[in-house]
Formats: sequence, structure tokens, C-alpha cells
Amino acid sequence: MTEHAVTCATLNKSFNGTRAVVDFDLELERGQLLALLGPSGCGKTTALRLIAGFERPDSGTIQIGGRTVAGPRMYVPPEKRRVGMVFQDYALFPHLTVLGNVAFGVPRGSQRDAQAHQALSLVGLTGFDDRLPHELSGGQQQRVALARALAPNPDVLLLDEPFSNLDASLRTQVRAEVKQILKSAGTAAVFVTHDQDEALYMGDLVAVMNAGRIEQIDKPEAIYHTPRSRFTAAFMGDADFLPATVTDAGLMTEIGTAIAENEVSIGAKGDVMMRPDDIQLRITTDGQARVVSSVFQGIYSLHEIALPSGRRVHALRHHSASFALGTAVEVELAPGHPLTFFPESEEAS
Ligand code: ADP
Repeated sequence: MTEHAVTCATLNKSFNGTRAVVDFDLELERGQLLALLGPSGCGKTTALRLIAGFERPDSGTIQIGGRTVAGPRMYVPPEKRRVGMVFQDYALFPHLTVLGNVAFGVPRGSQRDAQAHQALSLVGLTGFDDRLPHELSGGQQQRVALARALAPNPDVLLLDEPFSNLDASLRTQVRAEVKQILKSAGTAAVFVTHDQDEALYMGDLVAVMNAGRIEQIDKPEAIYHTPRSRFTAAFMGDADFLPATVTDAGLMTEIGTAIAENEVSIGAKGDVMMRPDDIQLRITTDGQARVVSSVFQGIYSLHEIALPSGRRVHALRHHSASFALGTAVEVELAPGHPLTFFPESEEAS
């Protein structure tokens, strides 16, 4: 049997009647990276703080490295949980050197400096021992924070919005570095983010949270392409829903037919979810749809199209294809892969 790095079972936590975390279940294996993703106030930080031990659950249990650390009449404080924590602002000790910072959490003993040096080598900062935090770039400070959290060999690393302090150009580079470091360390990690791209890039698993609950926990591709709830579909960005009827030929909509990726019954009515790359546009004088807005996004432009029914969908085209507002276009559903069907007033099966 695999021993999970982290197991949370039916965790609940309320603050003065506000249900911050509701029936939270999680199983994370060693070496897996989990992104906790969701809008502000959905309970991501509280879930992370429960695992860290900064909050006590009202009910439910938490195991770390196979050892129960929270449960009925049981509470192990953060410093005894074998968790490493990387904070948003890194929280480095300004008066301690890089080595002093990294060695801080390692128990005193003959191996202390060796463990700290090993962690510094893992993050690519060998030779930086004597620097002070203010003598480092933002990306380097981030790596010192990672090394400090990894040095005591925790069972799980917890990262709270780890890239929010970096500007956009540096963020892409640093997140690639951090992913590679975490993978080489082989430590399980849970990180909180409200950024969909970051979650898709970093996570082996992504848990989408809404109002304290995990809506879906899955691989990034599945979260994006086969969302199980309308909330997840819309939260992952650029989702349009069009009414559809299930026929022998598939999901029939006003712009064409697609195959369903989930189980559907013939005759059922509901909505099909599509993304802007699932839709083809062609300029034709007799086109019944109209371009109502276009947003230049760099490589691509995102066009909003009004259909004859009055409903709107979005289509992504290479920036070289420009459409004047009001252009008559023909719109075709051409996803090249099955789409998710949401039966009326239900979530996807
Ligand atoms: P997120 O990290 O997703 O933004 P949080 O976990 O910080 O969400 O918050 C979830 C909910 O719990 C919010 O409604 C928030 O106001 C509430 N909350 C979080 N921490 C506290 C606290 N210490 N006291 C009171 N309410 C809190």
C-alpha cells in the first residue's frame, strides 16, 4: 500500500459561523505537486493552514507521512509535523546569512551544515552561504526560502501564493525553476494560487475550490477539458455554454454537433461547454453571425461572436486574422475532441 504524504479526511473549519473549509478530502502521494486553486475567500489558505497546523480543524483528521497530526482530541503543533512552509513574502531572517537562514530549521548536530549545503545545492545557490537576504534578487530569495523549507527533509512542503511577489517576467522563469527543484527533491508539495495558468503549469494535480469545498481534484488536462461542474468550467477561463440536445449524432447545437466526453442519454437537453479554440470562424457575406468585439492578446486575438439566436460565443484566431466589428461570419463548432455536456440543472456526470 502506498503511504500517502498527506491525507485529509472530511476536514471542516468555520470562523464565527463562516464555513471556510467544508468536508475537505485529500490524498497526496510522495513527490506529487498539488495546486489549490480558487477565487479569493474560497478557503485555500485555511486548508493550507490546517495542514500546517496553524489552525485546528473543527472536525476531520489529517495524516502527514502516515502519522495522524490532527483529529479528535489530537493536535500536533506545526514544528512537530514534518512540514516545510514557504510564505508569500519568503519571511527570511534579514540579519542571518543565506546559510544561517537555511540551517535554521535543521536540528543542531554534526549534519546541520551538510544538510543546509545540500539544500542550497538543490536550489542552485552553492557559494551563496555568506550573503545576506538583501544582497539577493527576488528569485534568489525565493530559492533560499525553498532551501530553508526543504533542508529538514519534510514530508510535505506547503507554499502560500509563492510567486505573487515576483513581477510577471520573472514569475514564469522562477516557477519553472521551483517546479524543477520540487521534482528533484521528490517532496510532496501543496501550493495555494488564484492563478489558473500557474496551477495548470505547476500541479500534477489541481484542486479547484469553491465556497470551502473541493469542486474537482484532477490532472490539469482533465480540469481544463473535462470539468465536472459549471463552476470549474467557468473558473478555468474562457468557457461558453450553448444549449444542446443529445442526438444519435452527438450534442446538437446551433453551430454544429460535437461528441460528448461524458455519459449522456439520447433526448437529454442541457448545455455543452466549449472554449475559444473549439470554434471555427469564416468570413462569408451570407454569414448569420456577427463579430461584436475583438481583443488583441499577442499571438492570438479573442473574438466575441453574436449568434443568430442572440447567444454569444468566443473564438480564438491567430492575430493575423483580423475582423472588423460587425463582420458577417459563419461559425462552426470544430473542437477536434469530445466536449462536456451539462444536463439541465445538473452537473456533468
Ligand atoms: P482564500 O485563501 O481562498 O482567499 P481563506 O481561507 O483565506 O480563503 O478564507 C476563507 C473564508 O474564511 C473567508 O470567508 C475568510 O473571510 C474566512 N476567514 C479566514 N480566516 C479567518 C479568520 N482567522 N477569522 C475569521 N474569518 C476567517
